Amino acid sequence: MGEMIPLARPVIGAEEEQAVLEVLRSGQLSLGPRVPAFEEAFASRVDASHASAVSSGTAGLQLALRAVGVSDGDEVVTSPLSFVASANVCVMERARPVFADIDPVTLTLDPRAAAAAVTDRTAAILPVHIFGYPTEMAPLEQLGLPIVEDACEALGARYADGTAVGGRGHPAVFGFYANKQMTTGEGGMVTVGDEAIKQRIDSERNQGRAPDMDWLDHDRLGFNFRLSDIACALGLAQLDRLDAMLAARERVATLYYEGLRGIDRLNLPCEDRGQERRGWFVFVVQLPEAFDRDATIRTLAELGIQSKPYLPAIHLMAYYRDQFGHREGEFPVCEAVAAQSIALPFFPEMTEGQVEQVCAALRQTLGQT
Ligand SMILES: *Cc1c(COP(=O)(O)O)cnc(C)c1O
Repeated sequence: MGEMIPLARPVIGAEEEQAVLEVLRSGQLSLGPRVPAFEEAFASRVDASHASAVSSGTAGLQLALRAVGVSDGDEVVTSPLSFVASANVCVMERARPVFADIDPVTLTLDPRAAAAAVTDRTAAILPVHIFGYPTEMAPLEQLGLPIVEDACEALGARYADGTAVGGRGHPAVFGFYANKQMTTGEGGMVTVGDEAIKQRIDSERNQGRAPDMDWLDHDRLGFNFRLSDIACALGLAQLDRLDAMLAARERVATLYYEGLRGIDRLNLPCEDRGQERRGWFVFVVQLPEAFDRDATIRTLAELGIQSKPYLPAIHLMAYYRDQFGHREGEFPVCEAVAAQSIALPFFPEMTEGQVEQVCAALRQTLGQT
């Protein structure tokens, strides 16, 4: 058997190598000119007024929550179907993540469930554009609370009004881990409409330093959540090829739809509604109910294909059960989706032959050769 078809693989070429080499040779590896250059290029890419580069998507979410005023004892209404970071950052800020169930079609926060979860302690709503699909924002905005968007999986997505995810004014957080639509190795970006929020994030990512203060003078407490010039140079090179990478991901998604449509009771990612656009990040399918997911993953591995359960429900993770007393049955839509979902290999340079191989293996595994 040849090499496994991996779940994800970044596109890195001579441009990225050259960009990083230039920074290495410049002698200025951090706090240099690539940081604002990357921020400005990224902001303009998603039609945002401002952007702050940070060390990870998680760091960006934490700083964004602080910047909209979330603090001790507050509640943050959010989705239980997400990467654990979106809930962890609430706990890190000593707030309680209050989960609300998801929409069964888009898998994003159900606006009615979110509204029902609001109490007088709710300090913010944290929708997650999961698997790159944009959350329906208008009903959440009508709740009149601060919003922080987890857009870590949604670069390239568009809201129902056709505008780019990240350009709505609320802090929106992107991630640049190696499996995302673009990568800086590790890294993140917070886009925002309000300059005061950008200033607070810029200060808190850098030990609480004020922009007009001399080095080592600090007017608040802060972290080191900076992104290096090396990473920002990589990000600039990735932005240059982002359109091509997004188009390539869409091509792979189209091949998957062609190859998997018609498999009995296999649930495919929802197609775009109206002007909404998914920013393709992963290809997640839901296996027929009661089908053994672990056995499916093992069989796919024997056939040379990586896959994994994606995503587990956050409220049922050991820490969240122990700490907040969560149990099965609280969020039935999320739990049903989480129990049967697997991510298939999905990356821009995936060939038609590789997609066919995955589709054939899945058909075979599900007994429909
Ligand atoms: C990737 C991701 C993050 C942030 O991840 P980092 O590894 O910290 O960059 C946050 N939320 C979601 C939904 C993600 O997929």
